Amino acid sequence: MMKVMKFGGTSVGKPERMQQVAELITATKQPKLVVLSALSGTTNTLVNISHALAHAQKQEAAQIITNLYTHYCQFIQELLPEPVYQEMGKKIVDEHFDFLQIILRISFSEALNKDILAQGELLSTKLFSVYLQSRSITHQLLPALEFMVIDANEEPDLAGIRSRLLPILAGHPDCPIFITQGYICRNVRGEVDNLKRGGSDYTASLVAAAVNAEVCEIWTDIDGMHNNDPRIVNKTRAIEFLSFEEAAELAYFGAKILHPTCIWPTQQENVPVKLLNTMQPEAKGTTIVAAVEESGPKAVAAKDGIYAIKIKSSRMLLAYGFLRKVFEVFEKYKTSIDMITTSEVAVSVTIDNTAHLDAIVKELTPFGQVEVMDQQSIIAIVGNQLATTPNILSTILQGLQPLPVTMVSFGGSEHNVSLLLPTQYRTQALQLLNTHVFGL
Ligand code: ADP
Ligand code: ASP
Ligand code: MG
Repeated sequence: MMKVMKFGGTSVGKPERMQQVAELITATKQPKLVVLSALSGTTNTLVNISHALAHAQKQEAAQIITNLYTHYCQFIQELLPEPVYQEMGKKIVDEHFDFLQIILRISFSEALNKDILAQGELLSTKLFSVYLQSRSITHQLLPALEFMVIDANEEPDLAGIRSRLLPILAGHPDCPIFITQGYICRNVRGEVDNLKRGGSDYTASLVAAAVNAEVCEIWTDIDGMHNNDPRIVNKTRAIEFLSFEEAAELAYFGAKILHPTCIWPTQQENVPVKLLNTMQPEAKGTTIVAAVEESGPKAVAAKDGIYAIKIKSSRMLLAYGFLRKVFEVFEKYKTSIDMITTSEVAVSVTIDNTAHLDAIVKELTPFGQVEVMDQQSIIAIVGNQLATTPNILSTILQGLQPLPVTMVSFGGSEHNVSLLLPTQYRTQALQLLNTHVFGL
């Protein structure tokens, strides 16, 4: 049975890290499908290049491209010291930077933006493949653009991925190591596209589900999912086991270690997921499986950029069908709702996709008085059977007592209590919950 191993940006971001990745993927004889991200910082830089071009700032774009080129030239000098392999690496780098020079001269479009963003994963995988060649490590580089596909709603098409990938793998029956790009894919128009930021996790989960892998390992720069955001809170601890549901909720509500929607493919095919640390491979990490024993609060995450929409109407009193009409407006604009609270005369919902906010507000206005609050954050406390844990709600609310919580959602899911508050209080909320709920 195959194993999927995904290495994120920091895990491939320095020549010595790539060398470490080679050790990890050759440690056992089990066949592997290895998914690589772009070198850390590259996708952000490509976003900046695209942004400059979209705003007709060609000089700026050219300067960023030059700096990135220097970075890659240094990278291959260190990664591939032997002249023959360095030459091969240089050819790859030059090819991709020739493309980045061409884009300075053509008109910008959304399709071009996606082509620009794809360069990072194409570069990292090709350079890693040359490195493996330099070490005589047998492997195949599989172009993700030949099998990673998304549908008309821009959602990954798992059946389509499986039907393309399995014959490709069958074409190399004795190959011990396959390498492919995370993040990038093709859309229904056949254009290059991507699975959104952090999407290499999603690629890993999708291919793990497609090949029915024994395990999907996500190798990163931390020893697994922590109980709180280590970028924000000082004292956090790693969690040994999570259920698919718990992991999916944490990812969706902002735990950056996982792409927001990457859990469902592995959950659907019941492929265990492991979160592991490239810098500390012996650490236990986090294992994500279907069922876990323990219950109670396990972790908290925060999602920023939330808008709350409140619709107040006295006509809602005793009126049936009111909520349906409200939800239909969001459905029409393909805008998903995260939290809902209702009272006799008002309903509040939260959204994070504001692409159609104006149109939504306009269509809601006939139903009542509409208020929009921006710069809100959802704080989600996640844990198995959380809703039935004694005193959990009072512990959470007591902990957050100094803060202006504007919405609370409890009981909607067994694994989640969500709260809404202005983003300016998000850091404080995570710290207070760390003390009051997790005793840290
Ligand atoms: P990669 O480049 O490997 O995909 P990411 O930067 O996307 O890595 O994700 C790992 C980072 O996620 C960690 O370095 C950490 O700062 C951040 N993070 C946020 N919340 C959590 C959490 N609850 N547990 C672990 N890491 C978290
Ligand atoms: N390189 C992409 C990004 O930075 C995908 C990933 O790393 O998961 O978003
Ligand atoms: Mg990531």
